[in-house]
Amino acid sequence: MSFSSFGLSPFLLKALSETNYEKPTPIQEIAIPAILTGKDVLGIAPTGSGKTASYVLPILTQLSKAEKAKNRHIQSLILVPTRELAIQVEEVFKEFARSFPEPQKVKAVYGGVSINPQMKAMMGVSVLIATPGRLIELAESNAIQLGALKSLVLDEADKLLNLDFQEELKRILGWIPKKRQNLLFSATLNDKVSEITQLVLHDPIVLKI
Ligand code: AMP
Repeated sequence: MSFSSFGLSPFLLKALSETNYEKPTPIQEIAIPAILTGKDVLGIAPTGSGKTASYVLPILTQLSKAEKAKNRHIQSLILVPTRELAIQVEEVFKEFARSFPEPQKVKAVYGGVSINPQMKAMMGVSVLIATPGRLIELAESNAIQLGALKSLVLDEADKLLNLDFQEELKRILGWIPKKRQNLLFSATLNDKVSEITQLVLHDPIVLKI
């Protein structure tokens, strides 16, 4: 199988040919076409499986076909448990976003650092990668708008729940449009993860590697 069989943007195929990503990993083989259908997806896949690119590539493909983000309206929100993961995910998005003639603006935000520079940097951001607490602070201060959100990703959902982000997640879910695509990735499928999948996902395609 090769990346060219999925319907990804030609700009991404060119970028992929210039990286060390020679062929899709098993999670990418099944997640990329599933996400491109527009349906919700539950991916049970460990770190190191290539799960990040498995959602970054289809999300960038979808956004390249959509209207650009206006002002402070976020198009795709990626919630992650830690600052380290936020930075890693931002790097993967940026690596591929820059292959487009009109790149999507990508930004990672997390707690533990001053919020002011983050607030100022939100104008025109299309893809926001955030830890839940900082996302709430930015939304409450109107630095971002979530009313036009098209896709929501919960990455490392098991870790998000182990860190007790349930209440934050529920608040954020209340602020975003009901009609959206939801993607949830987790290394394990325990009771807590099952509960949140029922809250977030609608009739998902379930993938396990
Ligand atoms: P992840 O599971 O998303 O944390 O990715 C683990 C590592 O695999 C990262 O360093 C990626 O750059 C790398 N990677 C992801 N997909 C591929 C691929 N198709 N071919 C080679 N390396 C990959």
